[in-house]
Amino acid sequence: MTCTTCQKDVAENSNFCYFCGARQPAAPHVQYVQKKLMRSADAKIGGVCGGLAEYLDVDPTVVRLVWCLIAFFTGLVPGTIVYLVMWLVLPPAPKPGVEVIVPPVATAPAAPAQGYTQPS
Ligand SMILES: [Zn+2]
Repeated sequence: MTCTTCQKDVAENSNFCYFCGARQPAAPHVQYVQKKLMRSADAKIGGVCGGLAEYLDVDPTVVRLVWCLIAFFTGLVPGTIVYLVMWLVLPPAPKPGVEVIVPPVATAPAAPAQGYTQPS
C-alpha cells in the first residue's frame, strides 16, 4: 500500500507510515477488532477471573478478590458453580509465541532375553 501523505510504499495494513508517521486508513476487515471474553493465559486457577479482568480492562487481582468475596458471602457453592460453568464455556486464550513441542516418546530398553539363568 502507499502512504496517503508522502506517497511512499509501506507494508500492507500498516497503521502508520514509517517515513512521515501519518496515520493510515485502516483496512475495512481490520478496523474493528471485537474484544472476546476468554480465559486468560495469566491464570491462578482456571483463568476465568483473569479473562474477565482482561475483558473489563481491570486488574485481575481485583476481579479475583471481588469473586472471592462474592463467593464467600453467598456460601461458596454458587460462586464455585458459576466459576466452573464459565471455565467450561469460555474458550482458552491463545498463547502467542508458545509452540507446543511434543517430546519424543522414550522407548523402554528391551528386557534381556538371554544371559540370565534362574539361580538354583
Ligand atoms: Zn508517509
